[in-house]
Formats: sequence, C-alpha cells, structure tokens
Amino acid sequence: MVDYSDLKNIPKKDTPFCTLPWVHLATHPIGSVTPCCITEMKNGVSTAATATDDNEHLFLSKDSLEDIANSKKFNQLRKDMVEGRYSSLCQKCYKYEKGNSFSKRYESNIKFAKHIEDCFKNTNPDGSLKTIDYKYIELRLGTVCNVKCITCNPFSSNRWNQDVKSLKGTEFEKDYFKLDVKNEWYRDLNFYDELYEKCGLLEEVWINGGEPTLIKEHGYFLEKFINDGRSKNINLHYSLNCTQFPDKFLELWSHFKNVKIHLSIDDLEERNYYIRYPSDWNQIMSSFDKILKYREIFTLEVCQTVSALNIFNIDNFKKFTLKHNLTVAHNYVHYPNHMQVNLIPEHMKKGILDNVKHLTEHEVQRLKIELFKPFEEKEVERFHSFIKIMDKTRNLNIEEYLPEWKGVIYNNR
Ligand code: SF4
Repeated sequence: MVDYSDLKNIPKKDTPFCTLPWVHLATHPIGSVTPCCITEMKNGVSTAATATDDNEHLFLSKDSLEDIANSKKFNQLRKDMVEGRYSSLCQKCYKYEKGNSFSKRYESNIKFAKHIEDCFKNTNPDGSLKTIDYKYIELRLGTVCNVKCITCNPFSSNRWNQDVKSLKGTEFEKDYFKLDVKNEWYRDLNFYDELYEKCGLLEEVWINGGEPTLIKEHGYFLEKFINDGRSKNINLHYSLNCTQFPDKFLELWSHFKNVKIHLSIDDLEERNYYIRYPSDWNQIMSSFDKILKYREIFTLEVCQTVSALNIFNIDNFKKFTLKHNLTVAHNYVHYPNHMQVNLIPEHMKKGILDNVKHLTEHEVQRLKIELFKPFEEKEVERFHSFIKIMDKTRNLNIEEYLPEWKGVIYNNR
C-alpha cells in the first residue's frame, strides 16, 4: 500500500479528485472519447449525451473536441470531483482503492501533481473547462489490424469481423458481433489539426490500435511536434504487434524524448501463429531484429498476453526474452473469461510449476495466483466449445500447434 500522506498538493485518498478529466483524453475505435481508458464505458461519456440532448451522442467523426470535452457528462464528472462527490464513471479506481490497491487515479495524481492547482482554476462553475490543454493523450486509432488473435475480438481487430459469423447462434454470440467503424476519424487530418491545437504543453502520448503502424495518418500528428521543436519534450508509448516497423515511423519516433515500445508477442513460432492468427513467425522475427537495432534509443518491452493457450509455455517464452535481454510484462487475460489460465487441467498446472527455470519468484507468485483462482466446470466446457468453433472456422487443429492439448479438448475422437 502506497502512503500518500507526505505528498504535497495531491488530494488525499479520501477525496474523489482525479487530474485526468482535466489533462487527458482517451479515444476509442468508434470515435467516442472518455477521460481515461478505464472510465466506465457502459454509461459512456462522449457517447452518452450532448449538453442539451440526452439522446444525442457525440463522436470524433462529427463533433468537435471542444464540444466533447465540455459535454454534459464530462462537465458533470469534473463538477462532481471538485465538489467532493464520487462519480459512478470512476468506480474502477474507487474499487481498487477500497481494497487498498494502487489505482490509476493515484498514479495520475502523482504524475500530474504540478497541474492540480491549475485544474481547479481552469474550471467553470458548471464543470466545463475554460481552456483545453491536454498534457497526456491516449489514442486508440480504430480497429484496423492485420491479425485476429484468438484472445481478441472485433472491437479491437477488424479482421475478427471475418469470424463472427461462426459464433452466431452460439453461447458466444452476445460477446462477438461485427463492428464496422464506418467513419474513419483516425484518418482525418482535420482531427489531428484540432487535437494539436489543444496540446500546447503535451507531455505524453500513448498510441494503440488495432495496429497503429497501419494508420499512417497519425504520423502527420507526430510531425507537427517535430516541426515546432516540441517533440524532444514529449514521451511516446506504443503498443505494436511486431509484424512491421515502417522506416518512416522509426525515423519520426527518434525525434521524441523517451520512446517506449511494447512488443505484443504471445508465444513462439507455430504456437504464436495459432494464438496470434495468422501472424507469420519469420516476419515477426525479421521485424523484431529490426527494432532491436534501436534498443539504445527506444525502450523495448515484450508484452505477453497470457491465456489458457500459452500458459504451458510461459517459462520457455521467458527464456526467449532473456536471450534477447528484454523484459517481459505478463498481461493475464481476464476477459474473455473463457480464456483464463485457471481453466487448464490440473496435470498441466502441475507440469508448469514443476518445470519453472526462468521466471522470477515474483512472476511465479503471480502465476500461482492466476492458476489457482476458483472456477466453475461449465467455464471449462465453454473454453473447449470456443476452441472447437474457432478451429473449425479457421481450419486449424489446436493439437497440431499446442501439443499439450492432445486428447484434452478433442478427447472423444
Ligand atoms: S478516477 Fe480513475 S476512472 Fe476516473 S478518470 Fe481518473 S483514472 Fe480514470
């Protein structure tokens, strides 16, 4: 538990204030905007209502950033925070804090502590902002992607749209349906012009997709900061699928202050093909070798999405990252819950723990927690049934790629 009592200027734990609704925005594939990436989406923010009409939704494709940032829901959230009320939109943070865990709110209040006083000064009585000046932005640039990872869905990869038909009429139908992003707001240079105007003192940019290297237009936004000489003050973070690193982007990134690149790779060789379907391992390795040449100027970290499908090889994968002298972040899947690691058979769990050679003690602790989380037998059936449907759809057989599953899912054949 972090002790905040000695941190000057930071609203204490028992106030609901968070800097992000003032200094930050997070975009989403369909063009909706939230104060941060974990704001409660069910109740939406930019998609919830305009200032005058609860039924009209605001999107980047048709509305200005000014209108979105000062919309009814955004204003109410800031007003609630200033006046000491806990908003349902931020329940994720408040829930973590109740459990004495570190929250995004705490982290952000520390990170942007020097702006807190200005947040209050910059707020009108109705919660709207007098001036919009983002310090930190997170851009999810649509769903355009060249892979359809089995742990993913159509809301993050448009290639997944090809597979949703086969889930129609099944128990998975409500979680996987076609998402067509009709208006490609992330390709509109006017959007980047407008955003640039509101980023006078920008400190940090996070860029995600889909796969952002497929959205060349965002390079136009980065170039603006290179041309005005401010890129050297801005930290850049990317999550990339490691299938390509276009030279044009490598050159642009080299102008920024600190560049951190999260390389999303989930497993090795044919295993990775099955999980991050249909990625080509040779192509990934050639991109990987290319980016490693920049390790002196960019910070590189492998981000492994850990699911029931790659958990058996987690130690071997760690060996691969150690061989390349890279750190790895384990991002355990909790959604979709039919992909969670606790659903694998007991003999596999034992096999994994009996053969740990490369994971740290801390990583093993986390692994044990995830492996032994309670589950219901019907969740295992759901996992097996999902794999059977996806194998049929993609004309694959899990046993050929992930041999530890031989005789487990297709045990009746
Ligand atoms: S309190 Fe939490 S959910 Fe709300 S804006 Fe801040 S970080 Fe996001």
